[in-house]
Amino acid sequence: MKLNIVCIPGDGIGPEIVSEAKKVLNKIAGVYGHEMNFQDVLMGGASIDAYGVPLTEETIAAAKAADAVLMGSIGGNTVTSPWYKLPPDKRPEAGLLGIRKALNLFANLRPAVLYEELADACPLKKEISSAGFDMMIMRELTGGLYFGERHTTQENGIRKAVDTLTYDENEIRRIAIKGFDIAMKRRKKVTSVDKANVLDSSRLWRKVVDEVAADYPEVSLEHMLVDNCAMQLVKDPAQFDVILTENMFGDILSDEASMVTGSIGMLASASLNDSKFGLYEPSHGSAPDIAGKGIANPIATILSAAMMLRYSFDLDREADAVEAAVKEILKKGYRTVDIMSEGCTQVSCGEMGDLLADEIR
Ligand code: NAD
Repeated sequence: MKLNIVCIPGDGIGPEIVSEAKKVLNKIAGVYGHEMNFQDVLMGGASIDAYGVPLTEETIAAAKAADAVLMGSIGGNTVTSPWYKLPPDKRPEAGLLGIRKALNLFANLRPAVLYEELADACPLKKEISSAGFDMMIMRELTGGLYFGERHTTQENGIRKAVDTLTYDENEIRRIAIKGFDIAMKRRKKVTSVDKANVLDSSRLWRKVVDEVAADYPEVSLEHMLVDNCAMQLVKDPAQFDVILTENMFGDILSDEASMVTGSIGMLASASLNDSKFGLYEPSHGSAPDIAGKGIANPIATILSAAMMLRYSFDLDREADAVEAAVKEILKKGYRTVDIMSEGCTQVSCGEMGDLLADEIR
């Protein structure tokens, strides 16, 4: 298969971790007989330095012409970097919002996996963490409360602020279809999360999800209220496979789920549109505090590349190989400094990339 991948190394540790992900992808290409072409483009702070803006039309055009986008991370130290003296729409993060919008990325996927070898980093009690967990949070990314009409007024000296939460059935249906498609590649269970006991938008969400479920008889569906889901994530995270939810609930639940894994350098993510196209990036930021030191953990970016193989290219066998390599290397006791524990061997960002690439044969 011929794959054209646009890479946005970005800022901080971004270039270091993207280069390790390319190393692993090149190994996959060699072992499984694919042709991978990489094109690097600028975004965020690097683009501000070169062109004065965080996102150029050229970067958008290159991304649109590619089969998928692999990103490191953008942004700098928000206190000391001159990028943050610029108006908000000229700062690095504006590039990220801009590209998501330009590519119509409405489905955000964030896996939260507890690796047996890293179970000590999990803040939950041992009797809960020992069951392990492997879930995918699917969050609607372009509708709901964050994109509704809002205003602040003052009546008779009383200040009043209004935000609106709107979803139409098409917005719900397209994310629900993505959620069920992804469940079909996993353990075939969807937990749809809403607040249907209070909100009309949630009652419509539930109806449309039920309609979509009828086309996926192999997938088991349950509905859960968001407050219960927040509790269940810390009480019994092993019960979840795919959690399907709207924008604000997903924002909060995905952060909660990732924190219970305890390892920020291990968390991948993807944002998809209604074709197979996606933007893949680690969940963490650009870690300016450790940039250039060669100690960043590249695994979140490498696992994001595995998601790209699975969800944009349907290369499940190749994605499995990358994920298995990560498990194997952890089992062998290799760790970057952020996940280091006693008795393990500490390796640099580049060494971790080499080890993972070597593990794929
Ligand atoms: P951060 O995730 O960059 O860093 C938080 C802490 O985790 C730091 O101590 C950092 O060293 C550590 N860390 C993060 N990733 C690591 C890795 N792969 N290996 C080892 N350690 C790692 O969050 P922050 O410091 O709040 O933000 C820094 C910058 O990143 C800001 O400019 C922020 O806006 C930006 N940011 C960008 C994205 C994105 O591009 N999607 C997401 C979040 C934050």
